[in-house]
Amino acid sequence: MEFSEYPVNDLMYITNRPPLVFTEGDGMWMTDHTGKRYLDYLQGWAVNALGHSPQCIQDALLAQSKKILNPSPAFYNAPSIELAGLLTANSCFDRVFFTNSGAEANEGAIKLARKWGKKNPNQAGQHRFEIITFNHSFHGRTLATMSASGKPGWDTIFAPQVPGFPKAELNDLASVESLINDKTVAVMLEPVQGESGVIPASREFMQGLRELTKQRGILLIVDEVQSGMGRTGELFAYQLSGITPDIMTLGKGIGGGVPLAALLAREEIACFEAGDQGGTYNGNPLMTAVGVAVIKALLAPGFLQSVKDKGAYLRSELLKLTAKHGLEGERGEGLLRALKLGKDIGPQIVDIARDMNPVGLLLNSPRPNLLRFMPALNVTIAEIDQMIAMLSDVLSKLEK
Ligand code: PMP
Repeated sequence: MEFSEYPVNDLMYITNRPPLVFTEGDGMWMTDHTGKRYLDYLQGWAVNALGHSPQCIQDALLAQSKKILNPSPAFYNAPSIELAGLLTANSCFDRVFFTNSGAEANEGAIKLARKWGKKNPNQAGQHRFEIITFNHSFHGRTLATMSASGKPGWDTIFAPQVPGFPKAELNDLASVESLINDKTVAVMLEPVQGESGVIPASREFMQGLRELTKQRGILLIVDEVQSGMGRTGELFAYQLSGITPDIMTLGKGIGGGVPLAALLAREEIACFEAGDQGGTYNGNPLMTAVGVAVIKALLAPGFLQSVKDKGAYLRSELLKLTAKHGLEGERGEGLLRALKLGKDIGPQIVDIARDMNPVGLLLNSPRPNLLRFMPALNVTIAEIDQMIAMLSDVLSKLEK
């Protein structure tokens, strides 16, 4: 039986997907089961840092699969050591813990901060455990990371929440300061809020947060699951503001399309002992071998500069589109950008763009008045021009 003959809506537990099955991917393109091609500005939710199925990932998977798949998380393995070496050599962190998802990395960051807060109690000798997070932030879908997230509605949907995550306002240092008390152990934020609609924390805010947390003996945790791994044109977005955080999480792009994520910490904070955190597949060498291939591509001379240059080009083209169609503007960093539409036409644009012929365009609208762009980091100028032309067609259609 062909998959197309299966009753999709009876099999899959979430059934509100478009009636498409993607069977192949190649760079910025995907092909569905009917053979129609789509220019893909989702890239698996900013996951495919080097586009769909790049040669270097195919090679890494094949080579590692011939060696060993999973020696056991109780042993070290060569690709994980190499990837940890590359990550620490290119960041301000000393220790790496690999996980299978961004949420799991953040869960680990929360546990690490809380354990550190037990070892470093307040003046009354009490365990510090509160982690200040931000309204509209997104940190994952485990119970603790949902509680840490500031997504509207998530405070009640699976109540009771995991306690200890007071919410501050992004880019408002006074709001953070007002929440600090003798139970506070950390502040955790996305340097660029992704799911809430690509909202960058300002350089001044990041620098102010680092100063404030240092003064008050509190950890600074950056969730770079979306903003990390070259997406902003720096390897990590915290580097844009020249600060050194205490803990960082990575996901999405680090695996270039396979389930790999990571938790990094500075030496003096990395207080996990055997058994504190882990799982069957953590540091699986098939995944970390891919991670090695991805980071080597990102660190190749000129690659990150090209992300900056193409980000600037995408920005200027989005601004032209804004002027042409009377939209509101754009924002973002590098190749993580949003177009502000000024009205709630995002979902409509997504549907029309996807259904265009002979080729479709895959876009994302995290808020009804906004489109988000997360192309592969090796997207070409021609692929940016093509997307802008297709999007302009959709906007013209809607104006009629
Ligand atoms: N943190 C951020 C900033 C994210 O954007 C995401 C995913 N959208 C996550 C955490 C969760 O990652 P995952 O889906 O791999 O659990």
